[in-house]
Amino acid sequence: MKLYNTLTREREEFRTHEPGVCRMYTCGPTVYHFAHIGNLRSYIMEDVLEKYLRYGGLDVKRVMNITDVGHLSSDADTGEDKMLKGAKREHKTVMEIAKFYTDAFFEDCKKLNIRRPDTVQPATGCIDEFITMVQGLIDKGYAYVAEGNVYFDTSKLDEYYVFNKHDVEDLEVGVREGVEEDTAKKNKSDFVLWFTKSKFEDQELKWDSPWGIGYPGWHIECSAISLKCLGEYLDLHCGGIDNAFPHHTNEIAQSEAYIGHKWCPHWVHVLHLNTTSGKMSKSKGEFLTVSLLEEKGYDPLVYRFFCLQSHYRKSLVFSYEGLDNAALAFRKLIEKIASVKDEGELDAAGFEKLKAGFVEAMDNDLNTSLGITALYDVLKADVNGKTKLALIADFDSVLSLSLIEKAEEMRNAEPAAPALDESKIAWIEGLIAERAAAKAEKNYARADEIRAELTAAGVTLKDSKEGTTYTVE
Ligand code: AMP
Ligand code: ZN
Repeated sequence: MKLYNTLTREREEFRTHEPGVCRMYTCGPTVYHFAHIGNLRSYIMEDVLEKYLRYGGLDVKRVMNITDVGHLSSDADTGEDKMLKGAKREHKTVMEIAKFYTDAFFEDCKKLNIRRPDTVQPATGCIDEFITMVQGLIDKGYAYVAEGNVYFDTSKLDEYYVFNKHDVEDLEVGVREGVEEDTAKKNKSDFVLWFTKSKFEDQELKWDSPWGIGYPGWHIECSAISLKCLGEYLDLHCGGIDNAFPHHTNEIAQSEAYIGHKWCPHWVHVLHLNTTSGKMSKSKGEFLTVSLLEEKGYDPLVYRFFCLQSHYRKSLVFSYEGLDNAALAFRKLIEKIASVKDEGELDAAGFEKLKAGFVEAMDNDLNTSLGITALYDVLKADVNGKTKLALIADFDSVLSLSLIEKAEEMRNAEPAAPALDESKIAWIEGLIAERAAAKAEKNYARADEIRAELTAAGVTLKDSKEGTTYTVE
């Protein structure tokens, strides 16, 4: 399989250190709030990658951390711990917040058919490992104590800016507006391994350490958890593109300094999901969660389908129009599958030929949108129903859209409702006109409300330049 590697900036043949086994690490969520659908885009694409590697015969050992301490509001090690912020917002303890949002995250994953990684490790469960690693880095001369904190000394490395090639501008990436810079660092790019000094006196979670009572930095958790659970040779490390710098750059620096050799040869980053007005946010604008989509009448798997229709290395803009188009296409796809009759004997040659189309797409840097095209090719192909259904189930072991189950549900559903009566048509069209007027007045809340009302009544809207059309269940 050819897979783009952010480290070398090339599409490379994906290989593993130990034949047949893939050690895969994924940065997990910071559990201070619900995941937004942007976060979940990264997890969906990583899930498809994991499943495709398994499909190709690899024994994937996948580990994910849960960040429940140490991720500050600025990625440049300043500001307040995000967990503490979440706890204050909801008048709860940090551990209550962590438990609630970890569960909520895995609930969302379940709805999106995202497989739970083999090992899920909360950071607060590995404090001893962090302390051992920080001490090791001090002993080897890669870390120093200044004004109470322990810092990684980036000047000790031959190369530091792995993902951004000495671009000083990028050093500013993690510094958010209104957050002061840390003056204790020897070099601008040094980062905190262990905090004891915090301007937030009420930091709730603290542990004893050789450097005083404190808490770990965010970056050390992924290095230490990965080394603990997957050993010194990792094959694949994934995350959203914002993690590349400084988080992954720092992970590489400290892991390789600690183990004394190269650590992970292949890095995959998922580009962001943005809104039409820019960056997706948990605090500004509409907080887009899986539950919100459900409230608006969308099946979460429609969102998965929406994500799979685009390439993970292109940023994707979210809009309800885009999601409606995906909903319509998904429904038509299920209808087509539901109409395939399970007849005939499996045609092995036909199966292999059509499977090759799917494999070619996915081998090409995980081209999921062409992978979906391969599904349509199956439906159009000149093979019997049994072979078609076997191929669809086979591809869906990777795509995870519950295609066979949904087609079965559709087949077993109540027969179609009789033709619409005049009054229902008038009601639908009246609401569509009211929605157009609301949109013209920029009253998007009302427009969304109308859409939700229609969706609940089984009416799906489709907007285009020519106006709005609808279908009724
Ligand atoms: P966090 O919970 O903030 O630690 O982020 C969890 C994951 O979501 C990380 O891998 C981020 O890189 C990723 N992520 C954050 N924002 C987006 C976005 N808008 N689109 C895709 N992935 C994102
Ligand atoms: Zn990480």
